[in-house]
Amino acid sequence: MPSLPEPIATLIAALHKLPGIGPRSAERLALHLVQTDVEAVKQLAQALLDARGKVQLCGTCGALTERQPCALCDDPRRDGSLICLVERPVDILSIEKAGTFHGKYHVLGGKISPLNGVEPEDLRIAELEARLAREPVQEVIIALGTDVEGDATSFYLAKRLAKRGLKVSRIAHGLPAGSGLEYADEVTLSHALEGRREMPS
Ligand code: ZN
Repeated sequence: MPSLPEPIATLIAALHKLPGIGPRSAERLALHLVQTDVEAVKQLAQALLDARGKVQLCGTCGALTERQPCALCDDPRRDGSLICLVERPVDILSIEKAGTFHGKYHVLGGKISPLNGVEPEDLRIAELEARLAREPVQEVIIALGTDVEGDATSFYLAKRLAKRGLKVSRIAHGLPAGSGLEYADEVTLSHALEGRREMPS
């Protein structure tokens, strides 16, 4: 195969870095883009820059937002006595789609994983504890994935948060084993939340 012009090769390499985009897809997208109407490409480039420039993490809960604090933190109809702890901002969307949780959220930003160099201090645990000190939280619902790291992180947090005298629960099993929340359908997630169990401290 004749070698591709350098700008196309660069574009393929950039697209290939995106999650879920394999080498074949990256090549297909790049070849499509270089043959697309220039205006459409400009719009795409501008949309990328706008989204990246305007979206930030909520300083309180860690959700993706355009304003501080985010709409979820700022909504007086949401139950401030409940905080659902999730791994990533996208997990909030999964639970919101299920539509049965009306408390607030906190994004941990990962899971404890010594093998990958992720220690408790790399996660947004201090931010959570600051919230627990100033907000009227009575229960923290841990909604991390069901893999080994999700288990380890949940037990670590249950122990650490129990000292504060609040209830710490974990969403029920029934989620796909070894996976994150995005693979669970809405009914499963609702049941997992409703069937949450208090964690031993
Ligand atoms: Zn927020």
